[in-house]
Amino acid sequence: MLDPEIETLPWDEQVSRDDVLYRRQVEYLLARSDFYRAKLTAAGLTTADAIGGLDTIGELPLTEKDEIRASCSETHPMGTHVAVPREQIVRIYSTSGTTGTPSYIPLTAQDLDNWVTGSSRSYAASGIKPGEIIVTTYNAGPFAAGAALASFDRLGLCHVPVGTGNSERLIAAIRLLKPTAAVMTPSYAAYLAEWAADHAFDLRGSSVRRVLVAGEPGVGEAALRTRLEEAWGAKFTEAMGIGDIGVSLWGECEEQCGMHLGARGFVHAELVDPGSGAPLRMADGARGELVLTHLDHRAAPLLRFRTRDHVEVWTSVCRCGRTAPRLRCIGRTDDMLIVRGVNVFPTAIREIVSQFAPAVSGFILVKPAAAGTRQEPPLPVTVELQKGGADAAQLAERIEKRIREVLLVATRVEIVPWGTLQRSEYKSKLVQH
Ligand SMILES: [Zn+2]
Repeated sequence: MLDPEIETLPWDEQVSRDDVLYRRQVEYLLARSDFYRAKLTAAGLTTADAIGGLDTIGELPLTEKDEIRASCSETHPMGTHVAVPREQIVRIYSTSGTTGTPSYIPLTAQDLDNWVTGSSRSYAASGIKPGEIIVTTYNAGPFAAGAALASFDRLGLCHVPVGTGNSERLIAAIRLLKPTAAVMTPSYAAYLAEWAADHAFDLRGSSVRRVLVAGEPGVGEAALRTRLEEAWGAKFTEAMGIGDIGVSLWGECEEQCGMHLGARGFVHAELVDPGSGAPLRMADGARGELVLTHLDHRAAPLLRFRTRDHVEVWTSVCRCGRTAPRLRCIGRTDDMLIVRGVNVFPTAIREIVSQFAPAVSGFILVKPAAAGTRQEPPLPVTVELQKGGADAAQLAERIEKRIREVLLVATRVEIVPWGTLQRSEYKSKLVQH
């Protein structure tokens, strides 16, 4: 554990400390953030006293990414939620955005340091120790994910960056430098498992004992995790962040039962109903959309930011001793389909299909017949066979039946030979409209 005193602090004590920070942050927003002063005033809230503490945060309006984007202009290229003078900003990340105009994420030196602290706790939870060699595969470029790389220095690791899309270079580094850990997306881990088999490289027998994945959901799915752990002969743990709030905010421990909030004390987490936005109680097994609030941020703090990540949470204390709540990501709102009133995440379909291994490769593609979110059943799903596999008797029917039983959705499964679906060296596309 990186910060045992903080990470084992009873959660109610953490909440008391967070409440103090939160009240101070709200005061700061009213004084310094044009965006939030206007937003809160419009909701009839003009003083920190009227806004109150964390116990009533659920009554405040939510913040959508689009609102921040709409506040950007030539005069305010980063948005009107920026709360510090330009001179205090030391880093500006950007996200690609859907409209083509990048959206900017400014940070002060302290903001950046807090990001790295939270991220370091999240990655340390994997069990990695100072002195270990870690090979990473992220081409950080303009993206906030680059800040996570600084946490490997903080942890005292020997960091070997090789970047994305160069499997020869990566495998050479594994063969020659013998790292004990590797960092990548789950999709790239799956891609490399096949690549190694094709190139007669013994991945299972390699020096890598831990694979730390991030960037997309996947390893929270038991069957996919098992398949990857078998292919690599390594333990997989995951981490998750969101650019606007912080990198690797959450990190899974060696118990592999969800990602702990490593950024505790910097970020407050809530769960809301994705449809109504109503607060949901954080309790073991609760599911909803993750909403995050900065507690001690300076450059562009966010209040009740909708992450569009659908998660399942656990609040009971973990066997590792960390008291922070845990979660796993079920999927992104943007990927969700509604089939006759039932919400379906493609990751949930993949999870069920993967249970048919070794008959299937684990790669799937959902191909909705109609544009948009709402679909009529049956939902078309392409399922790929294992290498050299043949369409076994009634495989499609058995998968359709199982999906209907678990997700209550009718699908039409099309079985295709191994290698038909596109592999990714970064993130997998599970839906093709
Ligand atoms: Zn734990």
